Amino acid sequence: MNPPGPITLGFDIGGTNIRGLALRTDQSISELISEQCLGDHDDIIQAVVRLAKEIQQLESREIDCIGIGVAGFVDNFGVVHTSPNISTFLNFPFQEKLQESFNVKVHVENDATSATWAEVQLGAARGAANVVMVSLGTGIGSGLYLDNKLFKGSSGYAGEVGHMTVVPDGLPCPCGRFGCWERYASGGSLGRLAEKLIQEGEITNLPTITKDGASRITSEHVAELVKRGDTQAMKVLEKFGYWVALGLANLVNIFDPDTVVIGGGITELGQVLLTPIKSCFDNFTPEDSLRKSTQISLARFGNRAGAVGAALLAKEAEPRS
Ligand SMILES: [Zn+2]
Repeated sequence: MNPPGPITLGFDIGGTNIRGLALRTDQSISELISEQCLGDHDDIIQAVVRLAKEIQQLESREIDCIGIGVAGFVDNFGVVHTSPNISTFLNFPFQEKLQESFNVKVHVENDATSATWAEVQLGAARGAANVVMVSLGTGIGSGLYLDNKLFKGSSGYAGEVGHMTVVPDGLPCPCGRFGCWERYASGGSLGRLAEKLIQEGEITNLPTITKDGASRITSEHVAELVKRGDTQAMKVLEKFGYWVALGLANLVNIFDPDTVVIGGGITELGQVLLTPIKSCFDNFTPEDSLRKSTQISLARFGNRAGAVGAALLAKEAEPRS
């Protein structure tokens, strides 16, 4: 039996999927429901409206407000200036347009900021005063919580850590630069790393797991082999841990956080992902550092973090107009 009182809806809008859930008054969370959406901003708004109705029917509760986390540069007024995977969002006043479809408050934030807030409020970073969260997805999203406050920068865009250079003249990045961290340490880069290690002879070919023997090795392929305990795939993961730890060590040197939270789909792998990251991280940070040791944890909310955090932020947000 769900608790009495209204629900808050949270949505996470990514490049191909819109996911939504309800946050209840006892802070329990409903199942995530999702809809594929590859259309323009009108299609996205209609999909949010449909999902909102569906969740409300499932929960049989009134809605008090709605939070939206969206992948992209979102300013402090809920305008999406650009989005790496959703080309329809170009200086688009998303919050204002969504608000026309709802008679409760709508609040739009960046998805990584939202995910960070979920982990700080209810998840792996609860109680910490300084938190860096990195989400290893197609790219690397990040949120910063410093001195007990979300840190968003002067325009709302802080935390683009995926584009810090880790290899001068390294792999090209869609941002136009070379050697960005996310080309080496995002969830999406795991397959590419495996291919490189095969080419260099560091590992032998990975076992094929698809019947048709797809020629490209995907990140999902490597992750599936890791789950099966394949030793070659484990070597890929160890190398991947090196690249993740390299960037984390840079961030920890800058921000001195209590806690680093690692999110993104790849964290389904659990402890087996964390072990190589932690051991490489220790090698990057001197033992006699003045800094107290940083806790590195996996996100609690997995692929629900963006939606949960968006709902929590909407509850607290002051109306923007
Ligand atoms: Zn880049």
